[in-house]
Amino acid sequence: MVDEELEVEETPVETFEVNYSCLRCGTTVSNTELSGLPEIKCICGFRVFTKARPPVVKTVKAI
Ligand SMILES: [Zn+2]
Repeated sequence: MVDEELEVEETPVETFEVNYSCLRCGTTVSNTELSGLPEIKCICGFRVFTKARPPVVKTVKAI
């Protein structure tokens, strides 16, 4: 019997992710989430966002 190892490949994220926060309710949404929406709009219905700082990118280096 051969053991098969399932390899999980993570799709490299090349797109620069920017987070926006709603001016009204403060909900943080990323541009990738926004681009998946039919229109740029918060869940509360507000359309004005402020640019928030991008999430911390964790870089793990195996030494
Ligand atoms: Zn909102």
